[in-house]
Amino acid sequence: MKGDRVIEGRRIRVRGQVQGVGFRPFVWQLARRFGLRGRVLNDPEGVLIWAGGGDLDGFEHALTAEAPVLARVDAVERAAARFEAGAGFEIVASEGSGAETRVTPDAATCPACLAEIRDPGDRRFGYAFANCTHCGPRFTILRGLPYDRAQTTMASFEMCAECAAEYADPGDRRFHAQPVACPACGPRLWLEAGGSEAGDPVAGAARVLAGGGVLAVKGLGGFHLAVAARDAAAVARLRDRKRRPGKPFAVMGTMEMIRAHSAVSEAEAGLLRDPAAPIVLLDKAGAALPEGVAPGQSCLGWMLPYTPLHHLLLEAVGGPLVMTSGNLSGEPQVIGNEEAREKLGGFADAFLMHDREIARRLDDSVERVTPQGPTVLRRARGRVPGTLPVPPGFGGAPQIVAYGGQMKAAICLIKNGQALLGHHLGELDEALTYDAFVQADADYADLFDHDPALVACDLHPEHRASRHARSRADAKGLPVEAVQHHHAHLAACLGENGWPLDGGRVVGIVLDGTGLGPDGTVWGGEVLAGDYLGFERHGWVAPAPLIGGDMAAREPWRNALVRLDQAGLSDVAEEIFADKPLSMARQAAAKGINAPMSSSAGRLFDAVAAILGVCPERQSYEGEAGMRLEALARASGGLRRHTLGIGIPTKSMSQGPIDPTAMIRAMAKGRRDGEAVEDLAFAFHHWLTRAMDGSVRTALAVHKADAVALSGGCFQNVLLSELMQRSLSDLPVLTHQKTPANDGGLALGQALVAAARAVRRR
Ligand code: ZN
Ligand code: ZN
Ligand code: FE
Repeated sequence: MKGDRVIEGRRIRVRGQVQGVGFRPFVWQLARRFGLRGRVLNDPEGVLIWAGGGDLDGFEHALTAEAPVLARVDAVERAAARFEAGAGFEIVASEGSGAETRVTPDAATCPACLAEIRDPGDRRFGYAFANCTHCGPRFTILRGLPYDRAQTTMASFEMCAECAAEYADPGDRRFHAQPVACPACGPRLWLEAGGSEAGDPVAGAARVLAGGGVLAVKGLGGFHLAVAARDAAAVARLRDRKRRPGKPFAVMGTMEMIRAHSAVSEAEAGLLRDPAAPIVLLDKAGAALPEGVAPGQSCLGWMLPYTPLHHLLLEAVGGPLVMTSGNLSGEPQVIGNEEAREKLGGFADAFLMHDREIARRLDDSVERVTPQGPTVLRRARGRVPGTLPVPPGFGGAPQIVAYGGQMKAAICLIKNGQALLGHHLGELDEALTYDAFVQADADYADLFDHDPALVACDLHPEHRASRHARSRADAKGLPVEAVQHHHAHLAACLGENGWPLDGGRVVGIVLDGTGLGPDGTVWGGEVLAGDYLGFERHGWVAPAPLIGGDMAAREPWRNALVRLDQAGLSDVAEEIFADKPLSMARQAAAKGINAPMSSSAGRLFDAVAAILGVCPERQSYEGEAGMRLEALARASGGLRRHTLGIGIPTKSMSQGPIDPTAMIRAMAKGRRDGEAVEDLAFAFHHWLTRAMDGSVRTALAVHKADAVALSGGCFQNVLLSELMQRSLSDLPVLTHQKTPANDGGLALGQALVAAARAVRRR
């Protein structure tokens, strides 16, 4: 370079989520502010800075203190350096292979972009696709790496001169913002209702909603179906057309609309405003929305508008919108325009369409604030492809891919000390979801240049994910590590908490639906003692048959019947389930025909729910009975004297099965005596907590452990989680926050178990 000369300064390495988030222009601006010379660039390890000749300490402090909103700085490393520098500070081309370039998750519209679309003097006034370095689509428009415009679904839109100038100016908020667009050059919005509608598409869409219609809206990671949330008839119409009788709908509203219908704490407001813009579960409060929005629930799932299109639509409508995923029952969310017309035509009265393609289907993430902080229930848009560092001790782990379970499928990759837990895919029973799963596998491998040396899956050989794991491993000649379901839950909880590989044993309380145990029975209410490498089963819910196999998960009365029979209350079963085929069911149980024994905690919730008259016939969605039971329990004033300590099994204070029969008797008696269902529901939560506490305390002593981990889908139940933690408040307790406690986190645990074993084999 002309005028170059060697100067004294520092070589500064920044690690973390620092690419594709406006970090280099941020460094460039800081360097000018602190009078520095040198350069900044992206490379496979993150951002590399050579800087000297000014206030280096001030500069370094500002690097983390003022980092761009979407950046996450994990580490800043520095060394004194002599290097050549020109007169100023420059952004130079990336070095090294682009395959490592991180892609950030999609981010909600930032305040600056929002101000522009509301400013009649701005060229982006009313524009539905405004975005910048601090916000906008990322992973959902990405076709391949490195992340630049040509590799996104924005490739077909040629930037106009004004957008190109913004893109090229390091002083501009849109410097290197790949999806930069404006009305002159970017994606276009239109409304379809029968034919193509003339006039302002947003105003037209608002009229459809105001008239009680169902609107299909093309969003970031897929189509939503929307209705006016305050319109009970419209909500009922949507339920009817979607054939979705009970599963709660998510609602989108401004903060003001949310506060009108729900209680919002400061922490919850913060989570709603997170750039990930997840659905946040909030207690109902204030004016009620129609019961049909979330029947029988104490919570509503709210999200703020997260694209300019959402903001414009909400402003035009003036009220909250039900925004449920646009799909046929059980199928993945629709992402293509033609596919939407075909599949959603029967549900939607109109389509709010645009011509920016969705490269990758991502559902909305679902989260809630617990006393531990924000907690992920469904990990997808806005969170993926964020990574977690693998805990200390896993340094030498090879590249690993893990395929998770049959339900709430998600894939996990381990590479270079990072674990990437992929997005929520859904239930693999459904053929199209399985197709999406196979596609996601290839997609992630390609995007992250992943070449596994080891494949991990569930112990259950017949799960579709396990079969896929074996065929993929066979094709590449790789070993497969089969990991027991509840061990994987435990390992996932340890992993997201950074528990070191040699951190010692912990006791895991894993309360769950079902997973295959190594003894061939179905597990699900477990107290395990172990670590990443292995475990012992210390305590478990005394098993009962799952009559009809999978049917038992859908029809709670089946679980109530077997528990009542075990408790010697066959007469009660005959009375409250008089219309059910009891003798056939009992024969199946006695002969063990399609009635595997199971310690499932989820099915125990179902049994208690059915005894108390909560959806005994059938659950209209997975987990309904448990969720309703929790809602009832939370409505109770707490433990009443007469139910205090019901049926807590003293025997469970030692090892082995935890017998629920005394509790079941107390529930049946309470129902007969006309006790409040709310109080009984609470008493059950209390019983479960006490029973687990007893088992855990002996496990800690027997297995010389001193921490407890809580995992499994039942711990999405906030009341159970709180009671359990209060009960164990004298102990270190690890919980899930960044990854789901349910089967959505399973792949992470599988990957870590496989990694631990690989590291130990070395
Ligand atoms: Zn922005
Ligand atoms: Zn433009
Ligand atoms: Fe599970």
